[in-house]
Amino acid sequence: MRESKGYSLMNKFSHIYVEQKALSHPVTGYILERFPRAVKVEIQHYKDVFNRPHQDYRRQKDSPKLILAVKQEPFLYQGPEVCEDFGNDDFYYASCVLNCLYDCDYCYLQGLYNSANIVVFVNIGDFFEAVGKCLEYGSLYLCISYDTDLLALEGIVPYASKWIEFAGRKQNLTIELRTKSANYGAIRGLKPVEQVVLAWSVSPQEVARRYERQVPPLETRLLAAKAAAEDGWQVRLCFEPVLRIKNWQKIYADFVDNVFATIPADGIFDANIGIFRMNKEQFKRISRSRLDTDIFAQSMMHSDKGVMSYAEDGQMKDFMYRQLARYLPEEKIYV
Ligand code: SF4
Repeated sequence: MRESKGYSLMNKFSHIYVEQKALSHPVTGYILERFPRAVKVEIQHYKDVFNRPHQDYRRQKDSPKLILAVKQEPFLYQGPEVCEDFGNDDFYYASCVLNCLYDCDYCYLQGLYNSANIVVFVNIGDFFEAVGKCLEYGSLYLCISYDTDLLALEGIVPYASKWIEFAGRKQNLTIELRTKSANYGAIRGLKPVEQVVLAWSVSPQEVARRYERQVPPLETRLLAAKAAAEDGWQVRLCFEPVLRIKNWQKIYADFVDNVFATIPADGIFDANIGIFRMNKEQFKRISRSRLDTDIFAQSMMHSDKGVMSYAEDGQMKDFMYRQLARYLPEEKIYV
């Protein structure tokens, strides 16, 4: 497996839980070698640790543990309605890792899981097999980095590279690798693959500093995206979640200018705009525990068909669309 920069992460996990079924798997061996000082704990099933009730997500986030497990079917899930499908009917996602190294205030994962520990499913080959079977029936648009940030984890487990190499051998497959990391160097040695879209989520500095803890600064993310575009990758920019912060119009208008001053617009494959929104149940669950952020201030929110968003989300979408349309043609902007 390919090495990559990421060794500052190597002291991150004090304990690694390993499912009995995962013990002899090569990916397990690869990861355990990277953490020689971590205490290894054998477990029967990852859910015994990950799904335990009454866990303190916030405390675990300060010192997450790693869990290595074998995923059982299903390997692919239908794309959720709240996510942009970029015009693809055959929209699916796969989660070979659960949870993220970063800690954004608005992250839905804290409402989705009981635990902040990071689960790595070591049987990546079974995910590839499932995709192969699906492709026998038609084309597939697959998001592989939804419930995690795979590129940020590349120094621990090189799944971004593995997916890219896999996609390069397939027809009728498009993969979106979404990230907030600046770790492009970890995959830079690979030849750009037309079946892969590298998607960077970007936010204004004012949002990043306040709500995106541990995420690399905007400037380094933009430089990573720029380098990828120059190397010939299809680069997507995801302007989401757009937050209704004080002076949001000025802040986001300046931000869009700043983005396209760094990355020439003609190097961008496409872009999307997503106003902050979240499943109502997850929103309620998170808002009970996150009194340290104003993201979940319900007075600004309304609920529509089980989704929480700002009452003015239509107006916000229009505003953001107009900003992007100054740089990108209509067909490259998804709202
Ligand atoms: S980068 Fe994405 S997945 Fe990771 S904490 Fe932030 S919002 Fe959540």
